[in-house]
Amino acid sequence: MESLEFPILGEPLGIELANTWYGAGQDATDFLATPDMASAWAAAAGAPPVDDVAALCELRDTVRALVAARAAGQPLSRRAIGTLNRHAAAGCAAAVLQLDARGGVSTAIRFRGEAAGRARLATSCIEVLSGPHPIHRCEGEGCGLFFVQQHGRRRFCHDGCSHRARQQRYRRTQS
Ligand SMILES: [Zn+2]
Repeated sequence: MESLEFPILGEPLGIELANTWYGAGQDATDFLATPDMASAWAAAAGAPPVDDVAALCELRDTVRALVAARAAGQPLSRRAIGTLNRHAAAGCAAAVLQLDARGGVSTAIRFRGEAAGRARLATSCIEVLSGPHPIHRCEGEGCGLFFVQQHGRRRFCHDGCSHRARQQRYRRTQS
């Protein structure tokens, strides 16, 4: 399992969850295919421990459909929103006021209960979908990972994809 490289970009967890299905058609990889893979992904992504892989996959498929629709500028499915909200409501959530070392305060949401992990992931997706920044798909050939465009004109998920695209452009101009 150590040798498996997960497509983790440092995005909000809701986006990282959507990206656990990578590629299309026969070349697609499901990084939640087994309980071991799902647990290894969660550890690598800094996501909550996995309690129920089938439920996590249902949430992933829902999140992926919503994020893909948003990235493509299409309307969001009410049914998918219903499923997302059901997962978000499966953990007990409470707002907490946090005091930092300098006496400043901030708020956070704490989740409790068996489904707390999934509730946290679903809530992250809700925040991203309702947040101010657009969701984009990497333009790298055969990539298509999702990311939140926080600034500028970011077109690629990672330097690797942008580097490959530059090389392809270079080769095309040379031939
Ligand atoms: Zn990419």
